Amino acid sequence: MMSKRTYLDYNATAPLRPQARAAMIAALDQVGNPSSVHHEGRRARAIVETAREQVARLVNCRPLEVVFTSGATEANAWVCGAGGWSTILLPGTEHDSVLGPAAATGARVHPIAVSPGGIVDLDAIEVQSRLAAERGGRTLLALQIANNETGVVQPIAAAAAIARAHGHFCHTDAVQGAGRLPIDFASSTVSSLSLSSHKLGGPSGVGALVVRDGARLANLISGGGQERRRRGGTENVIGIAGFGAAAEIAATQVSRMKQMADVRDRLEAALLAVTPDAVVVGRDTARLANTTCVARPGLAAETLVIKLDLAGIAVSAGAACSSGKVAASHVLTAMGLPTDVANGAIRLSIGWDTSDADIATLLKAWTEIARPRVMLAVA
Ligand code: PMP
Repeated sequence: MMSKRTYLDYNATAPLRPQARAAMIAALDQVGNPSSVHHEGRRARAIVETAREQVARLVNCRPLEVVFTSGATEANAWVCGAGGWSTILLPGTEHDSVLGPAAATGARVHPIAVSPGGIVDLDAIEVQSRLAAERGGRTLLALQIANNETGVVQPIAAAAAIARAHGHFCHTDAVQGAGRLPIDFASSTVSSLSLSSHKLGGPSGVGALVVRDGARLANLISGGGQERRRRGGTENVIGIAGFGAAAEIAATQVSRMKQMADVRDRLEAALLAVTPDAVVVGRDTARLANTTCVARPGLAAETLVIKLDLAGIAVSAGAACSSGKVAASHVLTAMGLPTDVANGAIRLSIGWDTSDADIATLLKAWTEIARPRVMLAVA
């Protein structure tokens, strides 16, 4: 029998919330295509529209601005691919699902510098936005709300205001910020925002692109005209039901983040007390309450991840999506961190179901790993 595991990898995927499970089980038995006009179809449509309202409330947008997708990867790729961009401005700390599609567009991709703490340089955005406006064509500024590896929070309102002042389109990957930071799409000048259900405690394989009503973005998939013609294909009713329920409960828990930050700060202080040479990335920067990116110089991240896994604890080295690839994290490299920190950093990310016992288990294992091995000579 497998002993109890300690799951500290919420930024990779969060455990399913009971509310999301219940909503999906109810939706499983609802026969009907949401586009059908009969009773069954209307019931399925009601599930989708209820979820749309729940997701809209999480980020304060209008329900008609929510377009359900297969996840945030699809939403990010959509924005990069469908704007006809001449210039794309983005920092190197963006997620691969933005960097890859941006590079594939053929647009001039201009990297924006970040500080050693990971914060984007607003002056550089201003300069590059002006130059892009002078060159003409359409410009996209892509800036995530918070980073999946470090938790560093970007000044998205200020960046979006600069983009707007120059007539540019600002997209934000809100995957890691949603449910952890208050997000007010309506009063921002952000043009689009991507969300992922499984980071909120919903199922994976579903997410959304929130597109401001009237923003210029080509439709993603033509077909049966679903999602107001923007993304054809019969809706993933069960997944969407789970996403909506997770979004609803996550929205009520944003206010708990102060307590979570206290837990994180105590955890980091305890880790540093055991291993004073450890480096907490972005410690002096605005960060998500749930994320600690920590390196023990001289110890490879993969080694730490495996040792913790053997102790029953799940954490990540770099981004989970790129696991298997031993290269240093592109996020930490873009921040200009020394190679031993970039190669040694692991990510601990807590969430809605993390207990004090989980934190204690981690500290115990960390202390064990730090203890120097003494070889005993047997006579
Ligand atoms: N952006 C960020 C910041 C992420 O952390 C992730 C998930 N690793 C994604 C996008 C992709 O989301 P999804 O898994 O829904 O495709």
